[in-house]
Amino acid sequence: MSESSCDSISNSMIMTCFCGELTRCFTSRTSLNPGRRFYRCSKPNVHFSLNIENCEFWRWEDSSSENSSIEVNLLKSKLEVATLKMENLSESLNAMKIERDNLKKKLENLQSLNYFEVNKSRNLEAKVLKLKMLCILSFTVFVVFVVAIFK
Ligand SMILES: [Zn+2]
Repeated sequence: MSESSCDSISNSMIMTCFCGELTRCFTSRTSLNPGRRFYRCSKPNVHFSLNIENCEFWRWEDSSSENSSIEVNLLKSKLEVATLKMENLSESLNAMKIERDNLKKKLENLQSLNYFEVNKSRNLEAKVLKLKMLCILSFTVFVVFVVAIFK
C-alpha cells in the first residue's frame, strides 16, 4: 500500500498495536482509498530482518464494522493456521517421544547384552587360567616322575 505519514499528529488517535506499542498514523495514497487515514504498527515491515518484527496490525481511522469483520476473519484464519501448525508440531513431538522411547529400549537391550558378554568373557578367562594351572601342574608331575625314574 502506498502511504505517507500523517501531517497532523495532534489529531491522531492513541492506539496500540499487537506489540503493545503506539501505532503510527499514515494516509493512504491508493486509488481505492485516497486520502484515507489508517494506523499501523510503528515497526518497519522488513521481513528479512530477524530483529524487527512488524505485528502487521493496521486499522482505518474511520474503521467501520465491515473492516473490523474483515480484520476479525483475517485474525481467525491466522489463528487457524497457527492452531494447525501447533497440532503438527505436537504430532511430531509425540513421534519424537516414541522414537526416543524406542531408542531407550534399544540402549537398555544393548547394555544388558554388553553385561552378558562381559560375564561370558570373564568366565572364559577363568577357564583359561584353570587350564594353565592344570598344564603347569601336569608338567611338574611329569618332571618329578622323570627325575624319579632316572635316579
Ligand atoms: Zn506492532
